[in-house]
Amino acid sequence: MNTLLLSALDAKTPAIAAELIRQGELVAIPTETVYGLGADGLNEAAVAKIFEAKGRPQDNPLILHIWDASQMEQFCHDIPKAAYDLAKAFWPGPLTMVLPARQIVPRRTTGGLDTVALRCPDNAVTREIIRLSGVPIAAPSANISGKPSTTTAQHVLHDHDGKIAAVVDGGPCRVGVESTIVDLTEDRPRLLRPGGITPEQLIAVLGDLVVDKAVTAQIDKDAVVKAPGMKYRHYAPSEPVVIVAGSREKAAAYIHRHFTPGDRVLCFEEELPLYADCNPLSYGQEADANTLSAGLFAALRELDDPRIHQVYARCPVGGGVAYAVQNRLKKAAAFHIVDAEVEE
Ligand code: AMP
Ligand code: MG
Repeated sequence: MNTLLLSALDAKTPAIAAELIRQGELVAIPTETVYGLGADGLNEAAVAKIFEAKGRPQDNPLILHIWDASQMEQFCHDIPKAAYDLAKAFWPGPLTMVLPARQIVPRRTTGGLDTVALRCPDNAVTREIIRLSGVPIAAPSANISGKPSTTTAQHVLHDHDGKIAAVVDGGPCRVGVESTIVDLTEDRPRLLRPGGITPEQLIAVLGDLVVDKAVTAQIDKDAVVKAPGMKYRHYAPSEPVVIVAGSREKAAAYIHRHFTPGDRVLCFEEELPLYADCNPLSYGQEADANTLSAGLFAALRELDDPRIHQVYARCPVGGGVAYAVQNRLKKAAAFHIVDAEVEE
């Protein structure tokens, strides 16, 4: 198959992409979070192609992308007031809500669950593609399952060239980590995945938020969990990653004691001079967590190289968008963290 590379700047792109979606083909779409691997979310055969292309476990559900909040009732029932409040505050934007699913949504899309995840992405071209296609677009991140997510059209081609109908190139993604996911199907709202909409922003609207334990710890692969996607290995380059926590000086001393040729250091731009002899790669500025979220996956992809033995990574601390960066980096490191303040 010849994969079409369609520019988001070309006025003909939305109609071409929408037609491919209607025909049951796979089209990678740009969003403000990451590139999604999209298909008609109501067409089981089309959705099956997503799982096949990614090598994604069948029980890992997909997010349905809608072009406007007014579509919520088409796919969900018993929608709580909180969902309308969140939609008003954050859509279009990097927030996904889990709600009770109507029968029209195939269980192949929801990974067999009676709930469905909905999002209205903040990308004008992608919303126009959804609107013109006349169906919600089911899309997980466009990476091969387990690998770092795709934040450019080139990342998508690297993983899927020749295997999908088209990629819409909308440039690098602004947020760079996947959407915040909030489950609204229980008594209390539950954060399943942190992202560009921060816990602080959610609490300001909801007044309450439970953080699921999958956000902060490794989940056993046999565990029964609310969001099956949370238990799988994620975002990982081919070699082991270890997070080195602690002050700038203590971390640099620890890394220099352990570094051997063939290792790499993933650090903040401010720290590059400290690692001049350690083949460092910066993913953004510690002083601005938005640059870290925007740069993380491109950096993890660059480090996905079998010649590298070990990656020593520096991770931001604190809330806001840094909280989402910590979550992704900890998953990439399989929660392997050393504290340079106390460890030799
Ligand atoms: P991805 O965009 O590749 O990260 O995949 C979509 C994410 O949404 C996965 O982590 C899923 O587990 C999560 N998700 C999708 N639908 C549901 C749902 N109904 N309940 C809980 N989590 C969901
Ligand atoms: Mg993903």
